[in-house]
Amino acid sequence: MTTTTRDLPLLLLGSGTDPASERGVDCPGELPAASDPALVERARAAKAALGGQVFVLGHHYQRDEVIQFADVTGDSFKLAQQAAARPDAPYVVFCGVHFMAESADILTAAHQRVILPDLGAGCSMADMATFDQVEDCWDVLEDAGVADDVVPVTYMNSSADIKAFVGRHGGVVCTSSNAKRALDWAYGKGKKVLFLPDQHLGRNTAVLQMGLSLDDCVVYSPHRRGGGLTPQQLRDAKMILWRGHCSVHGRFSLDSVNEVRERVPGVHVLVHPECRHEVVTAADQIGSTEYIIKTIEAAEPGSSWAIGTELNLVRRLANAHPDKNVMFLDKTVCYCSTMNRIDLPHLVLSLESLARGEVQNVIQVDEETAHYARVALDQMLALP
Ligand code: SF4
Repeated sequence: MTTTTRDLPLLLLGSGTDPASERGVDCPGELPAASDPALVERARAAKAALGGQVFVLGHHYQRDEVIQFADVTGDSFKLAQQAAARPDAPYVVFCGVHFMAESADILTAAHQRVILPDLGAGCSMADMATFDQVEDCWDVLEDAGVADDVVPVTYMNSSADIKAFVGRHGGVVCTSSNAKRALDWAYGKGKKVLFLPDQHLGRNTAVLQMGLSLDDCVVYSPHRRGGGLTPQQLRDAKMILWRGHCSVHGRFSLDSVNEVRERVPGVHVLVHPECRHEVVTAADQIGSTEYIIKTIEAAEPGSSWAIGTELNLVRRLANAHPDKNVMFLDKTVCYCSTMNRIDLPHLVLSLESLARGEVQNVIQVDEETAHYARVALDQMLALP
């Protein structure tokens, strides 16, 4: 089964179903039962049978049962680069979410097929900015007479359509590690930035690293006429933030920070920049997933860390560093539900299908979209 890029509208819970956005609800082939005690052995055997034909990528937020079969782990951009560096592997099984598999397809060679074990593994943040909505936004910026001053910047966590839009309009992709460098470059080119789709990463980078004020930022809401902004607000703003957020990192609150500081004396609070502004300003350190991992690796034995990022990663860090007191920042459980759709049964189904010569759940970005998305990705790689 091959998918192409398209709009992925979010449905309100309980408001019906949309087969166009809920891809993968029907699993091709027979999904093994989660209770099958032979799953680990089946995955091992299928992977061994495939040998160098398959390269398995595992995002940091994946479950342990899946991560154990990853040839490499990392954040989305590192994984896409790793896949591109292995052109000898015709099949890349991406244990992550849809936009990550799209980026891998864009960056890998034409003969490589990128497979997402469950097509329902999307990203609620990426789905908050659809192509039509962003085109409408650009019309609003044109009507306000500011579009020529605006450089679009999109976070890696966006669909290929949005990356291509940004490439067509002279912009750049960024990650949570290089967002400041991307904004430095964008402000050297234009007077304003349209930051997609994560308002928190955009605001936190602009205010905490670029010296902009909160008043320099406005939030464009795709569900309101004119984005909910007046033309004058758009003319005055330096940073136009898309109203999108990560449903995992958006959960952490100032109360979580205050509560853990009271409960654990001397605790260091370490959060991802996708968290809300009041959370990152109350934290001790802010950084990408890779930064969080390196910080915990380098931490003093006996030190205490409350971490504001996805729970699978925090638990893995806690298990890997029993000499340090590593805990989850929030009191309630907080997995990324779409990431968690990739489980051992889906991985077994993908690997066994490949071993039989059946290629299922291929993510393939159309050529034109891939071309312009690559323009924006290449611009990121060329950032000074
Ligand atoms: S953690 Fe957030 S940004 Fe990452 S895939 Fe899940 S919803 Fe998307």
